[in-house]
Amino acid sequence: MIYADNAATTELDKDAFEAMRPFLIENYGNASQSYFFAANARRAIESARKKIADCIGAEPEEIYFTSCGTESDNWAIKMAAGDYGDIVTSVIEHHAVLNSCAALERQGRNIIYVPVTQVGEVDSNCFEEYITKNTKLISVMFANNEIGTIQPIKKLTDIAHKHKCLFHTDAVQAVGHVHIDVHALEIDMLSASAHKFNGPKGIGFLYLKKGIELNSYLNGGSQEKGLRAGTENVAFIVAMAVALEKNCKCIDENQKYLKKLESLLLERIKLAGVDFILNGSRNKIPGNISLSFADVEGEMLLHRMDLQGICISTGAACDSKNIQVSHVIKEIRVPKRYAEGTIRISLGKNNSKEDVLAIADVLINIIK
Ligand code: PLP
Repeated sequence: MIYADNAATTELDKDAFEAMRPFLIENYGNASQSYFFAANARRAIESARKKIADCIGAEPEEIYFTSCGTESDNWAIKMAAGDYGDIVTSVIEHHAVLNSCAALERQGRNIIYVPVTQVGEVDSNCFEEYITKNTKLISVMFANNEIGTIQPIKKLTDIAHKHKCLFHTDAVQAVGHVHIDVHALEIDMLSASAHKFNGPKGIGFLYLKKGIELNSYLNGGSQEKGLRAGTENVAFIVAMAVALEKNCKCIDENQKYLKKLESLLLERIKLAGVDFILNGSRNKIPGNISLSFADVEGEMLLHRMDLQGICISTGAACDSKNIQVSHVIKEIRVPKRYAEGTIRISLGKNNSKEDVLAIADVLINIIK
């Protein structure tokens, strides 16, 4: 098998796995209890919080553990905007953001969806036009999951603060893959998910800038300063911190390697004379390759590649009658002839040069 769907999820890091084991077997104490046995778990959580904070330029007390990126997005969007105020977001957000906004919209809230350019960037020059005096929250993703485009975050936080709005970013695809300093970028809230950076599935965090008041999303016990109730998943929190720290130490090296693999893949496909469009901007997550092929179906490509043991993703899926082009591919206005033939190959640090050459050759063969 060749796994090339790292934007969907990543392989669990072996050190992260080893680090979490003792907290599943020997140190299973509930971190909220006050006896000695529980202190190990409590210490491990606080040490993980510090490691994670260091990786994104935050203070430990600004990190809140959640069950996943989706929960972090729901929490930030539904709670930060309170009971009133407009929300400005982009048309290419992940459904964790779009559907959180839609839920508020059903309750009568005003949500403004900002369009993107053909490479998937929000235009910071005209972004202000979408902000009204009622806007309370702006939520724009750090990097897109389907095409990898990275947004001009600092320009957007400047605009948000000029208009006294809070700024949230869904950084699920970016954390651990690009350098992020939340204080330097003046981000108010940031969502992240461990399984996108070689941590376990079902654990994430929300960065919440000190001084910002956010209502709790899950009510119950006093965990996470009373803001996120529920017994902490100590083992997964520990593993998330190990995985993030490990990735952050090698961001430059990983980026360089992934860019090399990406060029190799694209060169091979170009050389074969295949008609395709490379989606996304130049400033994107390395390894996230969205390709739209002329006159083929993306889902056919996915299944034919699957039969040859290659895991990729699609930007256009079929039901029995129609080809459904994803909202992202629609919003960046990929021509119809190509849009239906969109796939996403997302390479990770564990992919080899041989993997990439095999992917290219199988793809070329199927298309030809
Ligand atoms: N946001 C983005 C941009 C994502 O890519 C994903 C997952 O694919 C999520 C949010 C949801 O994260 P999780 O799977 O941890 O709920």
